Parts: sequence; structure tokens; C-alpha cells
Amino acid sequence: MAVSKTFSGAAVREAHAAGQRAFGENYVQEALAKMAALADLRASIEWHLIGPLQSNKTREVAAAFDWVHTIDRPKIAERLSAQRPPGLPPLQVCIQVNVSGETSKGGVEPAALATLARQVAALPGLTLRGLMSIPEPTSDPVAQRAPHRELARMLRGLVAEGLAVDTLSMGMSADLEAAIAEGATMVRVGTAIFGARG
Ligand SMILES: *Cc1c(COP(=O)(O)O)cnc(C)c1O
Repeated sequence: MAVSKTFSGAAVREAHAAGQRAFGENYVQEALAKMAALADLRASIEWHLIGPLQSNKTREVAAAFDWVHTIDRPKIAERLSAQRPPGLPPLQVCIQVNVSGETSKGGVEPAALATLARQVAALPGLTLRGLMSIPEPTSDPVAQRAPHRELARMLRGLVAEGLAVDTLSMGMSADLEAAIAEGATMVRVGTAIFGARG
């Protein structure tokens, strides 16, 4: 996934012309403006919300995005499910897990994951696809792998419980190799594609 936050619609259009199809955005208003400017490409773009989501934004997100990676509480999931327009396929979602034990980046605590996953999987407007994490950054490639390995283990735990999940959204520009080595199915890459953010 190409993370296009802060980059222009023209930059997204250029990446699309080169064959990129999945784009990640953090801020709802910025994303909606970009989507409007790129409406002609809608059928061949997958829009992923990868930033925190407040409940007053769920209606717009349910109508405009294909994926949401940052589900961390039942209320947000219930609202997205109820507000997903009937003509669209279910919204594809990942549960964000707080793998590093730091609260600032959001995410459900690992101990509460199984319960939340069952709740989300039962919602008709959503398809639970897997797990997402934003580990504490470290430049040590060995240390980078530990939280990714942990997330992969949690995904296997959900599969063992009978949930049909297949997605590990983990790894960014600085740790995508470590994430892929631990089984990432979707890396979220911004600066390594578009350059440094202003
Ligand atoms: C910005 C962002 C990315 C991309 O980060 P880069 O270091 O630019 O690759 C990935 N995931 C999330 C959740 C982000 O907010």
C-alpha cells in the first residue's frame, strides 16, 4: 500500500499510472478532498484509512473508503457497519493491536483482542480481514522483527478460533523488510515511495 498522506492528488495519479492501486490515508478530510480530485480513477483505486478514527467521522468513512485498518473498539466498528451504504460491498477492516504496550498510538490491548475480533466479525457491514500494528520504532533489524512476529502469532490465534482472517498490515518504510520476513501481507509505505513528508 502506498501511503499518500500529505501528498497531492497529482502524486497519487502518478503512482496510479505506474501501476499502484492501494493507497493509504490518515486524515479523513484530506482523503475526501483527494478522492474528489481523483474520482475518475475510483474504479481502479482501493482507499485505505490507516489513521485514528473518531466516531463523528464514521459516516463519511463508511461511504468513501474500501478498507479501515484502525478498528480498536466496538463502538467504531458498530457505527461503520450500520453506516456502510447498502449498495457497497462490506467494508474491509483490520483491528489495530497495541503490540508495544504504548498507549499513544492506539490499538486494542492484546488481552482484549479475541473478544473484539468476535464482535467485529459478527457485524454485517464489515468483513474482518486481520490485524494491523504500529510498533515502537527501532533501527535494530532484529528488534524490529519481535512485534511483527507477535502480531503474526495473534493472527494465527484468531484463525485457530475459527475466524477467516488473512491480513497482516504491518511494516512501514523503515521496517518493511522485517515485517515481510515475519509474514506481512500488506506493508504501508509512504516516504520510500513518495519521498520525505514536508
Ligand atoms: C504515515 C504512516 C505510514 C507510512 O510511513 P512511512 O514511514 O512514510 O513509510 C504507515 N502507517 C501508518 C499508520 C502511518 O501513519
